[in-house]
Amino acid sequence: MNFTLRILGTASAMPISDTNPSAQVLSVHGRLFLIDCGEGTQQRLRQMHLGFLKIEAVCISHIHGDHVFGLFGLLSSMAMFNRTAPLKVFGPQALGPILRFWQSFFGDGCNYEIDFHSLTGSGMECVYENKSLKISAFPLSHKIDCYGYRFDEVLGARALSEGRCPRSYAYCSDTMPFPELEDYVRGVSVLYHETTYLKDMKDKALAYAHSTTADAASLALRAGVGKLLVAHYSSRVREKELFQKECREIFEDSYALSDCEVVEID
Ligand SMILES: [Zn+2]
Ligand SMILES: [Zn+2]
Repeated sequence: MNFTLRILGTASAMPISDTNPSAQVLSVHGRLFLIDCGEGTQQRLRQMHLGFLKIEAVCISHIHGDHVFGLFGLLSSMAMFNRTAPLKVFGPQALGPILRFWQSFFGDGCNYEIDFHSLTGSGMECVYENKSLKISAFPLSHKIDCYGYRFDEVLGARALSEGRCPRSYAYCSDTMPFPELEDYVRGVSVLYHETTYLKDMKDKALAYAHSTTADAASLALRAGVGKLLVAHYSSRVREKELFQKECREIFEDSYALSDCEVVEID
């Protein structure tokens, strides 16, 4: 049974020629979960052979454009592909009126329901549960209302008796460090955390409510995660390897992501 992460975009605010803004797809036992949806997400989905109609839910962290500008085109394409199954969308309260605006102007011929779940901002909240997966949202600390997501595999009695361990993934998009974050992501198999800045740019990171390599790696260490993935690189830094090198000084199992990478979570 697969628990696979596909990276659709790794840039921060500015899309550049070969690097899209934030978007990822987690496939769990054949179902797809889209996490953030920056510009260009549709094209990346096609490039990576991920069917639009297999997307069960969309988890939006916050409504900065680099995380959400791709959503409206995708919703339209789903309608053109004759989607009829309801689409769950999780996100901050402010996304609700934007989705209603989209529906009122562009929703003609849309034969599926957008089932929007507005997040509340107080602690860990379970937003989705089926027999193989539980998704929880938790608040982050950014310029605007912003959420991370945690995906926990649910194993049946047989798998547990065979000694299998449930796999888990946590996604922390734009955020400053804050104490509670450690508990939200504790012990996950794989943690994704933004690193917009290198460690010597801590003042910039604070000013823009972002994190540095050192922030992400020390969180990974304190929270006892299995592996750290980083991205959302500032367009000022050309060498992605520097992000990885700085993270590894603190947390050995760190990887700087590139667009179109595939990560098997185990
Ligand atoms: Zn961002
Ligand atoms: Zn942001």
